Amino acid sequence: MNVKKNLAAATMLAGTMTALSFMSAGAAQAQGALVMYCGVQEEWCRAMTTAFERETGIKVSMTRKSAGEVYAQVKAEAANPRADIWWGGTGDPHMQAAEEGITEEYKSPKMGELQDWAVRQWEQSKSRTVGIYSGALGFGYNTELAQSNKIGEPKCWADLLKPELKDEVQVADPNSSGTAYTLLATIVQIMGEDKGFEYLKALHKNVNQYTKSGAAPAKAMALGETTAGIAFMHDIVTMVVDKAPVKVVAPCEGTGYEIGSMSVIKGAKNLDNAKKFYDWALTADAQKLGAEAKSYQVPSNKSTPIPPQAPKLSDIKLINFDFAKYGSSAERKRLLSKWDNEVKNLP
Ligand code: PLP
Repeated sequence: MNVKKNLAAATMLAGTMTALSFMSAGAAQAQGALVMYCGVQEEWCRAMTTAFERETGIKVSMTRKSAGEVYAQVKAEAANPRADIWWGGTGDPHMQAAEEGITEEYKSPKMGELQDWAVRQWEQSKSRTVGIYSGALGFGYNTELAQSNKIGEPKCWADLLKPELKDEVQVADPNSSGTAYTLLATIVQIMGEDKGFEYLKALHKNVNQYTKSGAAPAKAMALGETTAGIAFMHDIVTMVVDKAPVKVVAPCEGTGYEIGSMSVIKGAKNLDNAKKFYDWALTADAQKLGAEAKSYQVPSNKSTPIPPQAPKLSDIKLINFDFAKYGSSAERKRLLSKWDNEVKNLP
């Protein structure tokens, strides 16, 4: 047997197979693929992916990341975008991406079905991002640990500074997490910038960990790993629904909220499919999947029933959150670097 000849033939065959697999990947792409970056809870991301694939036959490749991480990735890939659609996560990095022109203008035929706040997000971003859900920020506590640590019943942002809560508060890092950036922007809007940063520095003394993802503190509270946690109220409700000994608090001083958003990536290789997903994701039926996946935000399509478990926005003292200002590229960068310099690196 001529080993050299066989090797040459095998190499040729491998080359042909590689070429064929490239061709078939290309063909699959042309027929129906969609690359999605997803900013909500993994369970909801998967439910959306499966339902869209079933309905359209389009194959979805989904990656879940926190809001700030998706933004960083979309920006890094802007010259040769890998993703087609960015679905979910807080609106601020979507707004920043819109301003920086790394997402695409699009007007869906479904716009007329949406709540005013969702349309306003689209108008403020010059048609580059749209509201898909809304939810208020708050905090929660593990009732068993609260009793053993004798912290009483915290009701206000100020209560999280109690010395009894030293190393007992968990919150995410605002660089990666949209939830934690919403906290930063909320505190600055409620207290003013100087007093707000004083508050965040004092809070730092009680923080046991800055997590990457915004919902992680809610899970840690449920598992008894931290007494208190700051998160979106709907993420804490998920733990309560799962019967964890956790109480949800709408802070007495008032609180901020998010407009979870969706954007088409500029230069998307599967642009038509990105638009198909966008239109579908705004329908009442697609938005019902949130509650089915135990995510209890307020949906943006007026006909989607608000899940009974969703914290009632009308019962919460919501601030008049300035989404345009706190989603602007300059303000977001400035606040994040100030937080890094003045809060995160404190002992
Ligand atoms: N989970 C849910 C259900 C959300 O609505 C959001 C924000 O939109 C997040 C998580 C935020 O994730 P992160 O703070 O990790 O960016």
